[in-house]
Amino acid sequence: MRAVHFHQHGGPEVLEYHEFPEPQHGPAEVLVRLEAVSLNRVDLFTRNGWPGLKLDFPHVPGADGAGRVVELGEGVTQFAVGDRVVVYPNLSCGECEACVAGLDNLCRHWRLLGGHAWGTFREYIALPEGNLLKMPEGFAAVEAAAAALVYLTAWHSLITRGNLRPGEVVLIVGASGGVNTASIQIAKLAGATVYVVGSDRKKLSIAARLGADLLIDRSEEGDWSKTAYLAQGRRGVDVVVDNVGAPTMALSLRAARKGGRILTVGDTAGSAIELDSGLIFGKHLTIIGSTMGTRGEFTTVMKLVFQGKLKPVLDRQFTLAQAAEASDRMEAGEQLGKITLTVD
Ligand code: ZN
Repeated sequence: MRAVHFHQHGGPEVLEYHEFPEPQHGPAEVLVRLEAVSLNRVDLFTRNGWPGLKLDFPHVPGADGAGRVVELGEGVTQFAVGDRVVVYPNLSCGECEACVAGLDNLCRHWRLLGGHAWGTFREYIALPEGNLLKMPEGFAAVEAAAAALVYLTAWHSLITRGNLRPGEVVLIVGASGGVNTASIQIAKLAGATVYVVGSDRKKLSIAARLGADLLIDRSEEGDWSKTAYLAQGRRGVDVVVDNVGAPTMALSLRAARKGGRILTVGDTAGSAIELDSGLIFGKHLTIIGSTMGTRGEFTTVMKLVFQGKLKPVLDRQFTLAQAAEASDRMEAGEQLGKITLTVD
């Protein structure tokens, strides 16, 4: 099989595309022929490397994928050959305290597919059956692959961790990335009023199409936190979703109402933040960290995707062989929605 891989950390130039032996499935594992995969920020972070990350090279990135079951390991009960499936990217031990409680996202031995273990950017993958979910026969593999990680992340942060309620006002910092477009849709589906801060008109046009109620153009309004604060009659918003990090967190705190919640779900522009503790206690703010989600939430949110109630925004589609070009596009921040790769 062909696989995207790298032998050392670095930019898109370290990505290679060569032949590897087809993976063998173990007991209770399912062999899947992937049809489409999608690119996430984490794939860039893994490829670039970070202090403490130790990978066995070569490494195959990729957390998202969808395809068809081609072989079953002994003891597999949930799938049949020919089933169409989408990949669930959390790898967990199934035995620790958190796993037993159904919180596999908090597993002591948690690993991310494509982060700590070989990922989906290849033709075939063998996975435990708990890492797959059946999808309808007619559902497009690219849409399922585009949806999985970002909708799981957005659902877990807004609904489970953020406890978003109908009628609340949520401010989403960022308009066009995968997690933000998913968050806009989930917040609307939950009955919230949605404010979106975007870097320019083009990116905000996507948020508008998804039903955002107030668009704040960062290129025209330097202090977007004030705009969001004033829009609620000097009250501030109930919930802020911030996956940008260092450059925006201070403003996110200021945009929140007294007693508001700040969801930190990523740090695409840097993680070292300086916060005003007086603002945090003075406004009774709650800062909530959230990443990925559980297997149960994945089933819930993907059902809404399969029903068309949540629909991933698709950016350009590449082939697996064009992974470096696709990475370039994401690194430059040019994408509007999810970048996908088809596996021919
Ligand atoms: Zn565990």
